[in-house]
Amino acid sequence: MPESKEDEIENVRVVVRVRPQENNNVKNIVTVDKNNKLIIVQKPNSTNNEPAKTYGFDNVFDQDSAQIDLYVNTARPIVDKVLEGYNGTILAYGQTGTGKTYTMVGDSDCPESRGIIPNSFAHIFGHIAKAKENEKFLVRVSYMEIYNEEVRDLLGKEINKSLEVKERSDIGVFVKDLSGYVVHNADDLDNIMKLGNKNRAVGSTLVNSVSSRSHAIFSITIESSTTDETGNQQVKMGKLQLVDLAGSERQQKTQASGIRLKEATKINLSLSVLGNVISALVDGKSSHIPYRNSKLTRLLQDSLGGNAKTLMFATISPSDTNYVETISTLRYAGRAKSIQNHTHINSDPKDALLKHFQQEIEELKRQLEEGIFDANLNEVDGEIEEEDENSDIEIEENEKEKNTKKRKSKAKKDEMQKEKSDAEKELLEKKVQEHEHALKIAQTEQDMLRNKLQSLENKILIGGENLLEKAYQQEQLLEKSVAELEETNKKEQELQQTLQKIEAERIDIEERYSSLQEECTGKTKKLQKVMQMLMGLKSELADQQQEQQREKEGIYENIRSLSRELALCELVINNYIPKEYQTLIDKFTYWNEEIGEWQLKCVAYTGNNMRKNINEQQKHSKEDKDYIDLSHVYLSYNIDGLTEPIAARTKTSRPKTSHSGVPRYYQRAN
Ligand code: ADP
Ligand code: MG
Repeated sequence: MPESKEDEIENVRVVVRVRPQENNNVKNIVTVDKNNKLIIVQKPNSTNNEPAKTYGFDNVFDQDSAQIDLYVNTARPIVDKVLEGYNGTILAYGQTGTGKTYTMVGDSDCPESRGIIPNSFAHIFGHIAKAKENEKFLVRVSYMEIYNEEVRDLLGKEINKSLEVKERSDIGVFVKDLSGYVVHNADDLDNIMKLGNKNRAVGSTLVNSVSSRSHAIFSITIESSTTDETGNQQVKMGKLQLVDLAGSERQQKTQASGIRLKEATKINLSLSVLGNVISALVDGKSSHIPYRNSKLTRLLQDSLGGNAKTLMFATISPSDTNYVETISTLRYAGRAKSIQNHTHINSDPKDALLKHFQQEIEELKRQLEEGIFDANLNEVDGEIEEEDENSDIEIEENEKEKNTKKRKSKAKKDEMQKEKSDAEKELLEKKVQEHEHALKIAQTEQDMLRNKLQSLENKILIGGENLLEKAYQQEQLLEKSVAELEETNKKEQELQQTLQKIEAERIDIEERYSSLQEECTGKTKKLQKVMQMLMGLKSELADQQQEQQREKEGIYENIRSLSRELALCELVINNYIPKEYQTLIDKFTYWNEEIGEWQLKCVAYTGNNMRKNINEQQKHSKEDKDYIDLSHVYLSYNIDGLTEPIAARTKTSRPKTSHSGVPRYYQRAN
């Protein structure tokens, strides 16, 4: 990832939350030291008085922690940054049942139990309501699930369809055809989240508790534009990804077979690749980070070592029965603390829609003001009036004619006259009908334009608008909690100072050895401490070996499954594709690592390429190193309100390059 001068470098923040004890019969082995932000774990039934293991984090929360405090202390700063135009990611990692979903979603019907996702809704719309009037916002969301290395759209029409993960040099990694919805207030967002959660459950009829084995990613994109006095518009875009990961526990090998085995291996794959990515990033020596090895890590590429402010929640159980998983989670989370991200505000992003919508609104307003349709209507009216005059003249002429032919039979004359006036009447009626029809068409077209204008205007939120509605209570809770936090921080600082003073005095006293006897006691104490450290290190070593063994087993499992898949592919290729075709395919295609696709090595022999001689072509292709693959230029987003169908999009919203509809490749022959 290229680093620009303005990039801010900061580490992934890691927070641990201990869930309440479920069962009174099990032993509690976890202690939370809030002051020093430590988690202390006592090994159950440990022999030779092994010391407790201590792990330090950016913040720790015990079983009594309130959802709102957790939000204000940890997630709120990230969401504030997203509102400034940075990317932000909040992940929940941990064993099934330890409170990942409770932390991320919670119970949305009870204000005190709402999790990070619904609290962020109230926060975001509270911010917009307080913004200045020259600031405009566009908020859109998407919700997907990764299950068995397949991406599903939790808000889409076909939730069981597997979607492709793609990459483009200008906007990065994205999911093709993922639906996106523009939202107007916190209630809209709430409903969308609930819909997605319901769809997560729908998919799970296949296998038990799919949600514990799938990763869910809820994304909120916030675009904002400010216009200064000179009329200059600046657009910023922040993307918030809220991720509820699959349970981190190792799958029970003995229970897994058939679909379950395939599933278990693939879930292991995603989480073990995540582990490998974290290790590679922390190690500092690796030049290659294996992001591409799983869908999850591809989609989280920016969040780990990229352009995003990342917060990771590690959730653990306090009971002795979960000791192994708890230690494993704490070690995993501990490693993530050392990941460094390089973040910046996303100014004038290529995939921003706000500016585009605003331009479209201006164009629609212009069309309506110019009254194109009114002019058309006048034209139609004019034509009909003229025709009416002509027919009057004709009638008069007929009268004269009639007088000159008096002698002709009266009966015949009357008949002819009747026929003629009938025909004229019919013609006139037809014209009036046509006129009315044209009027109707013009009217509906104008109505359509007005509706479109209104729907576009509705999408854009203006600073200061009252958007809180039912979320008002939540925002009040947040505000109160922020004030309390400030007060607590102040008190904490004072206490810290007193503590430091006492500590300094204590050290001073200890240093004043008055006799040899005291020195001896002091040294014995030190020796005991060193012994404890030694024991601690030994147990740490044993843990590491155990952890490595677990990882090794996981990797072997993955290798076995991948080998089976490879063997199957080779079998199909060798039996169904003739050798000469295999050679041809080998010769004319190559794997494009950058975008993860097989591509042809040829140059499109059309247009200018046909006119150039070969030398020129070679020269050109060298310069044109950065080709553009236009086959998937389009946004993964179908932009529309929840109730509106996705297709309601104007032609102008697509880049010009799309019109041919034919994917063009500017490709270098190699
Ligand atoms: P996970 O998503 O990690 O599998 P859940 O969030 O579904 O776990 O939690 C399992 C159960 O424990 C749920 O009923 C949840 O309400 C409860 N729970 C988890 N953490 C907490 C907590 N901190 N406070 C209260 N209840 C919790
Ligand atoms: Mg869950």
